[in-house]
Amino acid sequence: MKDGSPDTPRSALVSVEALVAEGLVPEADRAALDQVAEAFRIRISPAMAGIPSPGVTAQFVPTPAELTLRPEELADPIGDDAHSPVPGLTHRYPDRVILHATQVCEVYCRFCFRRETVGGGDGALSEAEFAGILAYLHDHPAIWEVIFTGGDPLILSPRRLAAMLQRLAAIPSIQVIRFHSRIPVVAPERITPALLAALDVRPAVWVVVHTNHADEITPDASAAFARLSRAGVPLLSQTVLLRGVNDDPDTLEALFRKLIACRVKPYYLHHPDLAKGTGHFRLPIARGQEIMAALRGRISGTALPLYVLDIPGGHGKVPVGPGYLEATGAGEWIVTDPQGRKHPYRD
Ligand SMILES: *Cc1c(COP(=O)(O)O)cnc(C)c1O
Ligand code: SF4
Repeated sequence: MKDGSPDTPRSALVSVEALVAEGLVPEADRAALDQVAEAFRIRISPAMAGIPSPGVTAQFVPTPAELTLRPEELADPIGDDAHSPVPGLTHRYPDRVILHATQVCEVYCRFCFRRETVGGGDGALSEAEFAGILAYLHDHPAIWEVIFTGGDPLILSPRRLAAMLQRLAAIPSIQVIRFHSRIPVVAPERITPALLAALDVRPAVWVVVHTNHADEITPDASAAFARLSRAGVPLLSQTVLLRGVNDDPDTLEALFRKLIACRVKPYYLHHPDLAKGTGHFRLPIARGQEIMAALRGRISGTALPLYVLDIPGGHGKVPVGPGYLEATGAGEWIVTDPQGRKHPYRD
């Protein structure tokens, strides 16, 4: 698909009214969706609004199901706030921190685990907050990696990003700067030479692209990946396992193959978090394990991400994929091969 094709709206869709006008939601849902919109912002970028694929629209078009709250759902599902030493920073692991650079995104994903915080105000860190973060990093030289997230950190202007990265680069203990972003997929036009120049700093800059369906990866998105990798930025991806979007082996196989062919290494497949009003996207962990087991042996090992759960309460991410090893005695094991056949092993 090319920019400016007749199907691509020229501006983002940000209201229930616009979604009705585009025929993306039925008129009959309008009242319920107005209620949804009061709790969780709506925004579909022009690049995503033009894709006529159910696996794409289901991620961005609100539904009345979002009004159903379940008792297990949490406002802060992964416990970001439980480990925040200074505003804008989450420090859960000794060697790395998450920096919440903005609350703004190019799209508002209906399943977002930070849906309680994204979209608020202009959402940018103040100068005082950033100074506080820099002071904390200076005082904690064990921190080796700074992970920019949000919101979507690549929505910041190249000028602002360059200023932030240069100040981080001045801290000798910072070796790696990682961005978690949906921008290369949902707004590939933002991967400009000015942005690439901003990312060219002394610490190694990595980008983890958030993408959930092969239909999202348009020729424009793959061109944006190519610009990043030619600029020397290694690319990884993270995907959220979502009912009705990508919860079958064929859909994920297509996505992971496309990513590898675009020089993007699938990194994490996240089990969906317990964010409010997202029960319709969730599925059992056992289903995720079945899907991962089906993919093992079917696609290259390089194309397989790690299936992880972020333990509610801020206890960290752990692999929850299928097990292949069963202890049967001292030093004795049964190993399951990719086809499901069992083999004894002695260590
Ligand atoms: C996910 C996360 C990280 C990064 O974890 P990796 O396993 O290194 O990708 C770091 N800090 C926090 C608080 C996180 O939630
Ligand atoms: S782009 Fe990321 S932070 Fe923003 S709404 Fe989507 S999942 Fe949430």
